[in-house]
Amino acid sequence: MGVVETERIYLDNAATTPLHPSVLASMQPFMTNSPFGNPSSVHQMGREARRALETARGTVAHAIGAAESEIVFTGGGTEADFLALFGMLHAGTKRHVVTTAIEHHAILHTCDFLKELGYEATLVNPHPDGSVTAKDMLAAVRPDTGLVSMMWANNETGAIQPVETLSAALRDFDVPMHSDAVQAFIGLPIDVRRVAVSSLSISGHKIFGPKGVGALYLRQGTPYQAIIRGGAQERNRRAGTENLAAIVGFARAVELHEEERKARVRQLQSLRDYFVNALQSRVGGVHLFCEEKAVPQIVNVSFSGVLAETLLMNLDLAGVYASSGSACTAGTTAPSHVLLAAGWPQEMIRGAVRFSFSSDNTQLELERAVSLLEQLVGRLRNHNSAHFS
Ligand code: PLP
Repeated sequence: MGVVETERIYLDNAATTPLHPSVLASMQPFMTNSPFGNPSSVHQMGREARRALETARGTVAHAIGAAESEIVFTGGGTEADFLALFGMLHAGTKRHVVTTAIEHHAILHTCDFLKELGYEATLVNPHPDGSVTAKDMLAAVRPDTGLVSMMWANNETGAIQPVETLSAALRDFDVPMHSDAVQAFIGLPIDVRRVAVSSLSISGHKIFGPKGVGALYLRQGTPYQAIIRGGAQERNRRAGTENLAAIVGFARAVELHEEERKARVRQLQSLRDYFVNALQSRVGGVHLFCEEKAVPQIVNVSFSGVLAETLLMNLDLAGVYASSGSACTAGTTAPSHVLLAAGWPQEMIRGAVRFSFSSDNTQLELERAVSLLEQLVGRLRNHNSAHFS
């Protein structure tokens, strides 16, 4: 094939990022012996652990403009989304949810589960640019709507959603609103003092933090019933002894992200611009699924005449890692629900590949990835035209 692996180039950062060395260093003491106490114990060792827990809570709260008491640590973004939807609906009597058709499965599959339990869910479709309008969401709200949920930025296309506008408009309806901010938190400033959401979710492993830890922001006064029960931890909102090492690491990742956010975003934007320009000028026949109003870390493209599966496999063999939005179940690849909902034709969807960057990526890496893409896409196109002519 003529493409020799020289180094591995990781372009799947929307899936996860590596642990920052400083995050690891912050976690190490809690994974060894000091302090190993249980934050719920009242003795000195418990109190030491509790201090670390509350310091971490303060860091996360500060990063999004929340009060410490409004932060619930969870086992990641999926759990935070699940707890938000179930916890708020369970606290009320209304049994209808409005959300978007482009949510992460953390929300969509939670809605499926809610439906099994007798709730109803309306999924609002996006426009071809990948964004759902506040107007369309409001039109779906009914007298029995107990919750509206809209992701802040989409994990497949990067499309930014009008969370601020929708949350402001929902005030007149007296319906709580959740936002999945897992991807948005990477590239956008999130401040709950400016945006009237009742809850939002963030996750550690997208910002060089550990996997399996995240937070649910729950605005003071929001009706909420605990779903995971069995202890009084997290102010009775999420039972279970806290994963202190992961929480401390998460807070360190959040702190670093705060310190470096502007520089990280600048780097992401310049990587994105470089990549998109290089693809367009050197590979050609490129379709971008979301050109404007997107978070800078995600580029979702299709190359005419090339199947995503084949391209991803060839990239993988050459040491370049990207992904597609489609779910692979039992050997069959389902087309992306996000692109389907936006109304793109099947052949374009089947070609969609997501490249996602972190501020650790370099232009040199992208230059190599583009050269590889130039070769692979050319070869696959030639192969296809020979095959079908
Ligand atoms: N929501 C969005 C938008 C995501 O991108 C992800 C992860 O890919 C999640 C939720 C789930 O987060 P976690 O992996 O921490 O469970």
